[in-house]
Formats: sequence, C-alpha cells, structure tokens
Amino acid sequence: MFDLHMHSTFSDGTETPLDLCEIAKSKNLKAIALTDHDTTDGLSEFLNNDSILIKIPGVEISLNFDRGTFHLLGLCIDQENWDLKSTMEKLKIYRRNRNKLIFDRLSEMLNRNITHADIAGGNAGELGRPHIAKFLVKNNIVGSVEEGFEKYLKKGKELYVEKKRLEAEEAIAIIKNAGGLSVLAHPVTLGLENKSFEEFVISLKRLGLDGIEAFCPLHDRNRAHFFYEIALKHDLIPTAGSDYHGDNKEGIQMGDTNVFDVDEKALLDKIIHVK
Ligand code: AMP
Ligand code: ZN
Ligand code: FE
Ligand code: FE
Repeated sequence: MFDLHMHSTFSDGTETPLDLCEIAKSKNLKAIALTDHDTTDGLSEFLNNDSILIKIPGVEISLNFDRGTFHLLGLCIDQENWDLKSTMEKLKIYRRNRNKLIFDRLSEMLNRNITHADIAGGNAGELGRPHIAKFLVKNNIVGSVEEGFEKYLKKGKELYVEKKRLEAEEAIAIIKNAGGLSVLAHPVTLGLENKSFEEFVISLKRLGLDGIEAFCPLHDRNRAHFFYEIALKHDLIPTAGSDYHGDNKEGIQMGDTNVFDVDEKALLDKIIHVK
C-alpha cells in the first residue's frame, strides 16, 4: 500500500524517478518516498510530475558506526534547504573520492585502466558499489551482484574502500533543520543485540531521531515486531520500506515492505499526520 524507501538512477537504482512513480501507480500504492544515497538530485523529477500519488521527498545518509551498517533516512525534507544542499555536495565528494580509490584497485586487479565512464555505463547519477558489482558481472568476473559483494566489495575484501561519513548527531540535525523526519533505516544491519539496540535508540532519540523503519525485507516477523514495539515504546514513528533498487537488487520489488500484522493505513497515517 505504501513504500517509504527506494532508490533511483540518481544513485544506485535502475529506474528513473518518473518510472518509480509509474510503477507505484501500476501497483496501486498510495504513497512512496524517494530516498537516494547521499543525494537529493532526483527529487525535482520525482515531485514535479502529475501523478496522484503521495510523493515524499527523502534521502538516505550513511553514518559512522564501528559495528555494522548505519543508514539514516530523511523523509519529508525540503530539498531546497541550503544546509542540506551543501551537505549533499560534501557527501558526493566523499563518495567520488572513495569511488576513485576503488577504480584504482580495480584497474590494478584487471591490469587495465578502469574509469568512471566504464563503471557508469551511461548512468548520470552518483555511483555506488552496486554499479561496480554490475561491472564485475558484465565482465564475467562474478556471476551475480550478490557474488560481487561477497567476493570483492564487502568490508574486508579486495575492492572495499572506507568512505568518509557523517556522525549521527550531525545528520539528524541537518534533516531536522530541513524540516524532515529522521528514520533509522533497516535497523537489523546495525548488528546490535536487542538490549544494546534499545540503548542505542534511546541515545539517538536524544539527538532527535523521529522514527524506525520497523518493516523491511531484511526483517522477518519476529524482528519486525521487536523494532515496531521499540518504536512505540520510545514514541518513535514506525515506518516501512522495500529499499527497492530495480535490477540492482535482486528479488526485491517496490512495495515489498514486509508489514506483518499491522494496519498499513494506520502506519502511513502516522507519518503523514506528523508532517
Ligand atoms: P555504497 O553506498 O556505494 O557503499 O553501496 C551501498 C549499497 O550497496 C547498499 O545500498 C545496497 O544497495 C548495496 N549492497 C550492500 N551490500 C550488498 C550485498 N551484500 N548484496 C547486494 N547489494 C549490497
Ligand atoms: Zn543502495
Ligand atoms: Fe540502506
Ligand atoms: Fe537504501
């Protein structure tokens, strides 16, 4: 019924923002949010079309964290906000610098010069590791994007390079300042035990966190309910998102939000009514 987490060709998705609106319409979704990695460049195309969907402008920011993966969604943001814009420019530079280092390693590995253009394959948006994984598939180095991550791109592997990231405090403040809601994305990837997770959420709430993405394809029923209950207990908004990337993420379709046992309309109303 709704889906508040997805990527377009402006980052590592394979559908344009306009295509995403069309797909949402064909699936009868009521609302979608575009949440590209570290960029808001796709939001004007996303918002400025006449589809009758509720379109929520968003972004997904990668944050510093010494355990697993820590991603924060900014939803209902004003993409014209100056602070947000300048932060996006900074994050793009961090990403481009990291990508250059990956291209260097890849060039060394393949014994030929690999450039941005080789990886982009016509994509005008910001590049990420999924594009590199696809390049590996195209060149028969691996059989799938997943294998590309497992063998080369995940932390500790030959083509993994750290990217400079924001601190949670800074990102939450920037989203708030841009009129948005900050939501902890796919919390299972933090890799925390239940008790430390709750303590972590309490500390984020003090910094201004607004919500938790309780429902997503990475959460089974039990996990989703754990995150949902934690959200309610700490007066945070529970949300749901598929993290749809088109063909760049195998097996996930728009709308695959894994909402279990909760009325979806009530869930959507919570976020729409706060804004
Ligand atoms: P980046 O922001 O460039 O570091 O790339 C992160 C993106 O890579 C995530 O949003 C996922 O879409 C994708 N990703 C991360 N790990 C995996 C994996 N094991 N298999 C497939 N895609 C992955
Ligand atoms: Zn991604
Ligand atoms: Fe993410
Ligand atoms: Fe995502």
